[in-house]
Amino acid sequence: MRTPIIAGNWKLNKTIDEALAFAQDLKPALSKAANVEIILAPPFTALSVLAEALNNSSVLLAGQNCYPAQGAFTGEISPRLLRDAGCVAVIVGHSERRQLFGETGEFINRKVKAVLEEGLRVILCIGETLQERKDNQTFKILEEQLRKGLAGIDGTSMARLVVAYEPVWAIGTGQTASSGQAQEAHRFIRDFLATHFEQAVADSTRIIYGGSVTPENIDGLMAQPDIDGALVGGASLQSASFIQIARFGRV
Ligand code: PEP
Repeated sequence: MRTPIIAGNWKLNKTIDEALAFAQDLKPALSKAANVEIILAPPFTALSVLAEALNNSSVLLAGQNCYPAQGAFTGEISPRLLRDAGCVAVIVGHSERRQLFGETGEFINRKVKAVLEEGLRVILCIGETLQERKDNQTFKILEEQLRKGLAGIDGTSMARLVVAYEPVWAIGTGQTASSGQAQEAHRFIRDFLATHFEQAVADSTRIIYGGSVTPENIDGLMAQPDIDGALVGGASLQSASFIQIARFGRV
């Protein structure tokens, strides 16, 4: 009922030529990753050429970030311009944005609203730090980030929102959450959505996991009932490993 999503977040990596070479590898491999939504979030500079290169494929493009306005905001990028460059979605609230660029829950909520208003989809990232997990604060932090991120969003708009559970301690560290730890957090998020909206919203919202996902651990994660896909950083930079992840469950 919930189509799985495998999304690659390239962060601040790949020139235009490197992005195009990746697209050439990915396109022929796609028929073997049926019934999976594949999303790539390249750097902004590669968006429009990738949109053209992937034109007749099922790969979708996402922005890695946005600013929730248009106009005199030097150096920023708006949902409107991302849509113009070929994006169907935007990643919002990535922990690197929260931690390195001081983004608050309120600011992230403005971005969520701006992306939805532009008719795009949101991938809303939430997750606890290692210290918060050690202090048994995981669920409290997840609930706080969800409450702030989703403030003022109605149940209908949730059809265009994906939650990405990304424990900060697992991002780029090689230390994946165990399938059990991830499932527990995803279950908590789904229960929150049921209470905050209604059961139908909770049942239909995709909740994807991010944090050191690899071809080796994807199957165990995807076997969990509340894990609907993955947001992949490091392992999305090589086409071979990204394709293997997109073909999860197959040998
Ligand atoms: C990410 O940055 O969203 C991420 C999950 O990175 P990695 O897969 O490298 O941990």
